[in-house]
Amino acid sequence: MRGFYAMIRQNLVRIKERIQQSCAKVRRYPQEITLVAVTKGRGSEQLQELVQAGIYDIGENKVQEALTKYIYRQAISLSLTSIRWHMLGHLQTNKVKDAVRIFDLIQSVDSLRLAGEINKQAAKINKIQDVLVEVNISAKQSKFGIRTDEALGLVARMDGLRNIRIKGLMGIAPSIDNPESARPYFRMLKELFVQINKSKIKNHKLQILSMGMSDDFEVAITEGATMIRLGRAVFQG
Ligand SMILES: *Cc1c(COP(=O)(O)O)cnc(C)c1O
Repeated sequence: MRGFYAMIRQNLVRIKERIQQSCAKVRRYPQEITLVAVTKGRGSEQLQELVQAGIYDIGENKVQEALTKYIYRQAISLSLTSIRWHMLGHLQTNKVKDAVRIFDLIQSVDSLRLAGEINKQAAKINKIQDVLVEVNISAKQSKFGIRTDEALGLVARMDGLRNIRIKGLMGIAPSIDNPESARPYFRMLKELFVQINKSKIKNHKLQILSMGMSDDFEVAITEGATMIRLGRAVFQG
């Protein structure tokens, strides 16, 4: 176990160096980038290690798995009030009630129907739920995410939902062997982000641009990502 934790720490050091180098290339500051450690498929004990290493943003793909870890966290009363939980995976409407209870940021909102359900469940517990709109930038590879040409319209229609706060956009580049090939997809999402902000939809000033995973986060940073989501880069040797 010791070896495993040492490896995570080493990985984090290396990741931070790579974030710094990518930022330097485009004159950005590393503090502009939030690292979300994606813990899907990993045990609850590993949460503690991440927090001790200074990682407070945790990403999960499934509501059920996240709930288990959430309960574990409470059980060992890990001083984790400061953990921010991110929902990254596709969210079914029948799971929204639990999702709204535990997640600080739901990154996978891709339809008005889903947004409406989140709004309704959030209202019941007097919560303003922060969300990102997931945009399908990889066209044929993914069935999730709103089409790029429908994203602005969706944001506009969500404007009336009072228990939702749209914080930004999330996108997943197609998985390709060369990270450089992801660049046009990230650039497209950044352009959409700027365009939506220019349209000045009343309550929403987008701040978070969540793009970049283990294979392509450096490219994403140079294209303007403010949040990267890393699984394998954190946990694998
Ligand atoms: C799994 C996952 C990640 C992390 O993927 P890695 O390639 O392991 O870094 C990031 N975002 C989403 C939406 C994911 O499902």
